[in-house]
Amino acid sequence: MNQGRIFAVGIGPGGLDLLAPRAREVLERADVVVGYRPYLDLLGDLIVDKEVISTGMRGEVARCQSAIAKARQGSMVVVVSSGDAGIYGMAGLLLELEENEEEPLIVEVVPGITAANAAAAALGAPLMNDFAVLSLSDWLTPLEEVKRRVKAVVAADLVCVLYNPQSRSRRELLPEIINEFTLARGNSTVVGTVRNAGREGEECWLGNITELPVAAVDMVTVVLIGNSRTAIINNRMVTRRGYRVDKA
Ligand code: SAH
Repeated sequence: MNQGRIFAVGIGPGGLDLLAPRAREVLERADVVVGYRPYLDLLGDLIVDKEVISTGMRGEVARCQSAIAKARQGSMVVVVSSGDAGIYGMAGLLLELEENEEEPLIVEVVPGITAANAAAAALGAPLMNDFAVLSLSDWLTPLEEVKRRVKAVVAADLVCVLYNPQSRSRRELLPEIINEFTLARGNSTVVGTVRNAGREGEECWLGNITELPVAAVDMVTVVLIGNSRTAIINNRMVTRRGYRVDKA
């Protein structure tokens, strides 16, 4: 039997071709794989012969507690997150749960390609200069705090990547935020959205902020809002970094 070990593994955006070799190797060695069902489904055959523990969307604490219990019993346990495990994923929660333990388990974190990377590549090169990543979910962060951070990003002229942009029940925040960016950065601000980035069914949209189909944005989409230097070049989204590219 393995000595009990626990890994927080980011599986990338979904397509197995974007699963990092180290993540694949750790998954192959695992006795127990723990995660949200749709993410486990993305792994397909890779985990067929494993013990699998899955819970619903908001069962994160219980899910991580069962994972820790299994590891303490001697199993090699992998807790999967989509994208990167340390970006709105399970890595931090596992570390927090071990905070007051006399003999804390060592949580090993394996990085993955986060949605922002996969979406940026699909659109072109929008993250060539400074950018910010914001989650619009008000589940664990109070709405007022989310709005305060949005204002700071708008003011700093950072390219902005929005995670958890709009759910079925949270419909007011995204239009409000898009409006703030439009007022501050102008009608010709470039925006891109990518639904199912880096996995089957990837869909991109690219255009001016005033044309953004806000209502179509859902929870499997990321929204990238350009800054004053972001342009559409040959139908790709590009943030100019400042290189001199004039032809002689
Ligand atoms: N740990 C994940 C993020 C989890 S937060 C990561 O690093 O990517 C969940 C949000 O991430 C979703 O609501 C969506 O906005 C975004 N997301 C995750 N995977 C995505 C994908 N393949 N395509 C588009 N957006 C994605």
